[in-house]
Amino acid sequence: MKKEIPYKIYLSEAELPKAWCNLRAFMKDKPAPLLDGATLQPITLETLSKIFCKELAAQELNDVDKYIEIPQEVRDFYKMYRPAPLIRAYCLEKALGTPAKIYYKFEGNNTSGSHKLNSAIAQAYYAKQEGLKGVTTETGAGQWGTALSMACAYFGLDCQVFMVKCSYEQKPFRREVMRTYGAKVTPSPSQSTEVGRKILHEFPNTPGSLGCAISEAVETASKTDGYRYALGSVLNQVLLHQSVIGLETKTALDKYGEKADIIIGCAGGGSNLGGLIAPFMAEKLQGKADYRFIAVEPASCPTLTRGKYAYDYCDTGKVCPLSKMYTLGSGFMPAASHAGGLRYHGMTSTLSKLYDDKLMEARSVEQTKVFEAAEYFARIEGILPAPESSHAIRVAIDEAMKCKETGEEKTIVFGLTGTGYFDMMSYEKFHDGKMTDYIPTDGEIEKALAKLPKI
Ligand SMILES: *Cc1c(COP(=O)(O)O)cnc(C)c1O
Repeated sequence: MKKEIPYKIYLSEAELPKAWCNLRAFMKDKPAPLLDGATLQPITLETLSKIFCKELAAQELNDVDKYIEIPQEVRDFYKMYRPAPLIRAYCLEKALGTPAKIYYKFEGNNTSGSHKLNSAIAQAYYAKQEGLKGVTTETGAGQWGTALSMACAYFGLDCQVFMVKCSYEQKPFRREVMRTYGAKVTPSPSQSTEVGRKILHEFPNTPGSLGCAISEAVETASKTDGYRYALGSVLNQVLLHQSVIGLETKTALDKYGEKADIIIGCAGGGSNLGGLIAPFMAEKLQGKADYRFIAVEPASCPTLTRGKYAYDYCDTGKVCPLSKMYTLGSGFMPAASHAGGLRYHGMTSTLSKLYDDKLMEARSVEQTKVFEAAEYFARIEGILPAPESSHAIRVAIDEAMKCKETGEEKTIVFGLTGTGYFDMMSYEKFHDGKMTDYIPTDGEIEKALAKLPKI
């Protein structure tokens, strides 16, 4: 007889994964290598180690080892908020009247409020191991900066965060959480870097951008002794660390003999989705099981659905290596959107390759439809979701409604990446009917793509 499935499937500490799953190692056709911006040749460990600490640079280039051990200190930190529960959305299923079974993996159970802490703690750990003094980073909406501040506080590292100026002013609570954890938060562009001064000279009233904040953080790290730069998404190392999400999800489903049919996640730089699907995609690549994977992105920043698969810069300042990925062009300026964590012009190279090989699907959704789903979900399942996460909720509901039409009993799993407590201004706009849906024209996208580097 099949075991009755509880509302929440908890795992024990002993079931916390002991190794991360390195998805690229399972791919026969590997993602294209990162290129050094100066030579346009595949980047070497030596060059990459000037930006990132050595162990992380090595992880960035490792497409051979299928599993990489999670250091004991990192596992110990994970134990404070993991394993994260896999929740069976019985209430949502009932409200929708769908025969589908819906599960979601909730990553909002920590103070930073999102999955980003899974990689932040690993990155801080390796920096500490290497004897560094501190790290620099950028943050847009603030989730990554918060997570890295927490991780640095734990290991006694300095943390310097360049926060996009408009967020710095509009999100004082996020800023103060970071300062509570000891981070130095600077509005970007700032007077403290060459890049910042140059931009301020040209555009004194700029609200700032993520691309500019990245350039400031990289410059500061490279000019300060004992500092390295840390990034919260897009990179292979971040996908690797986030595989803890997928590994736990798989263990929880296996415990009850459940098999996912469709796995859904929101995609900004692609790290939570890459981590969620890692062990499942590994099975698919080995021919052991089949799954459908769906990446969900905002219609205002449609990287996979309308972008181009090409080499591009990861930042506007062009200081980072080039990556072959789906991109809208590093000069693409997405319209202000309430899902700040999904406003990135590119997509991690691993997911880009899998999508190009038709192993994964992608869908774009408009933000008013996303907030409708967010509010519906909050009222039924109780959790107040982040706008980013709500992209996955939207498509999970759409898929469950298709099952209602066809009578199919599919099992749908989606990633609920975080909570939306700091996004109440966005919810307010939605409630007041002031939220609009901006969809870029083909002309705007073509214009940004015309500036792709010729490689
Ligand atoms: C940053 C963020 C995302 C998007 O980042 P990915 O790297 O694509 O996972 C999604 N949800 C939340 C809550 C975030 O903070």
